[in-house]
Amino acid sequence: MLRTHTCGELRIDQKGQEVTLSGWVQKQRDKGGIVYIDLRDRYGITQLIFEEGVTNPELIEKAKSVSREFVLNASGEVVERYSKNEKIPTGDIEIRVSELKILNVSKTPPFTIEEETDGGEDLRMQYRYLDIRREAVRKKLELRHQMMSKVREYLTDDKFIEVETPYLIKSTPEGARDFIVPSRMNEGEFYALPQSPQTFKQLLMVAGLDRYYQIVKCFRDEDLRADRQPEFTQIDCEMAFVEQEDVLNTFEGMTKFLYKEIRDIELGDFQRISYEEAMEKYGSDKPDLRFGMEFNELNDLVQGTGFVVFDSAELVVGINAPGCAEYSRKQLDGLTDFVKKPQIGAKGLVYVKCNEDGSFKSSVDKFFDQEGLKAWAEKMEAKPGDLLLVLAGEKDQTRKALNELRLEMGERLGLRDKNNVVPLWVLDFPLVEWDEETERYHAMHHPFTSPKSEDIDKLDSDPGSVRANAYDLVINGVEAGGGSIRIHDRELQAKMFKTLGFTKEEAEEQFGFLMGAFEYGAPPHGGIAFGFDRMCAMMAGEESIRDFIAFPKNNSGRDTMIDSPSKISTEQLAELGIDLNQKSKS
Ligand code: ASP
Repeated sequence: MLRTHTCGELRIDQKGQEVTLSGWVQKQRDKGGIVYIDLRDRYGITQLIFEEGVTNPELIEKAKSVSREFVLNASGEVVERYSKNEKIPTGDIEIRVSELKILNVSKTPPFTIEEETDGGEDLRMQYRYLDIRREAVRKKLELRHQMMSKVREYLTDDKFIEVETPYLIKSTPEGARDFIVPSRMNEGEFYALPQSPQTFKQLLMVAGLDRYYQIVKCFRDEDLRADRQPEFTQIDCEMAFVEQEDVLNTFEGMTKFLYKEIRDIELGDFQRISYEEAMEKYGSDKPDLRFGMEFNELNDLVQGTGFVVFDSAELVVGINAPGCAEYSRKQLDGLTDFVKKPQIGAKGLVYVKCNEDGSFKSSVDKFFDQEGLKAWAEKMEAKPGDLLLVLAGEKDQTRKALNELRLEMGERLGLRDKNNVVPLWVLDFPLVEWDEETERYHAMHHPFTSPKSEDIDKLDSDPGSVRANAYDLVINGVEAGGGSIRIHDRELQAKMFKTLGFTKEEAEEQFGFLMGAFEYGAPPHGGIAFGFDRMCAMMAGEESIRDFIAFPKNNSGRDTMIDSPSKISTEQLAELGIDLNQKSKS
């Protein structure tokens, strides 16, 4: 071994011991008669000291010759420091070096390997191996590892077994585009990378494995955002002989276990809310319940008074921002600009200030007198000092916009504290939703989700009103996971495909294998999948998932370090039977 200890473990107790350390030069300081080197490895930083009159002069010269990120191997005695550094755990001691080997030299790194680096995102990604040397990034990967091992511990203890499913499969419709892999041996044919192991895990239930999980890579060819990657990791799970309640309890248990073990946070029982209620009260199927500010629908109160904006609206709905009546003209204009942003899309914002003296001042004083505004305030349970913010328009659109405004106000009022963890289950999702563009129903979760038994008879007459046995786990307004009880009956599965606009032949061609399996004794089953990268970020109270992935891709789906994706040679293309000119020829 090139070391007796790591750079993070020596303390005053080891004073007098001869030790050997290996690591990278964090910093070298030449103070004339004394040279200090901070030596860093994964575990910490230890100071090396070379001192004139004590250390052999050749060694001092050698110490002077090293610079940042050189790899060193140093032996010497642990001594007590003259001036201690309370900021690091090894700060009481230093190593008086008697032997120094330079194991490797290093070019000056393109950015500083410090907590606060001067490197921009692009540069950091291009030299990711240097970026990971930074404690901040390394800690995130360590947390990820801890999460993985705790997930495995919990599920293994609960009789789940981890089974690997193939990566080269055929298209599964989870709503995104597939990544495609050409097959050399079957020219003109293609594999797809799994968007999730959905059908395989269901087949494992038919196979009798009873409880399956897998920490697994999934691939979705979607446009990227800060919390999305083309390849990402799921904790994918499936259980046989269960009802929705069993799945919820198992994974509520797992989530509590993870927060307890990793953050020492004791989570109480998770709240539950139906999809419909979530949309009505928060305008979102992933509401952030760290704060209230629930929606209040005002149609009854405000329509028919001659104010066209309200009279012509499908929905008039508002929130009560506590203590914001003092907002200035400028602040209110700022909020109006916010809701009018194209991505939010409201046409305008109506406000009512509930003044401390019990009077009201609104942007619609022309249409509503004090009595009228008082009725709004009562409906919205506003107190003097509060500010009512109201939007009007088409229902879904207006709810969506008010959701954004609610989150913005929550942010401004400091109600979205990352140390406050509020999980909830969202239940009773609609089974399908109508897609205007393709003029078809789409599965809201995926086509294998079972409808609620009491709604099955509406599948033919009114598919849009059928609710599903589907559930999402939402933590602080972020979807952590989602799943459903599955269809396990051939007839029902066939009917579902029909509802989704598949012909019998299409359904057979794409999912005959699954429906076929259902004919050989498929048990009732259900499951869930968690976005693992996102769970890690959430556990650390961070928004971006990028640093929780060792080698993530950028916003254009590129890995700039290995420069991928890249062109392939004409020979490779020919072997695969791919003619890139085909398009231009035809
Ligand atoms: N396969 C689903 C997904 O990836 C999760 C599930 O239904 O278990 O979202």
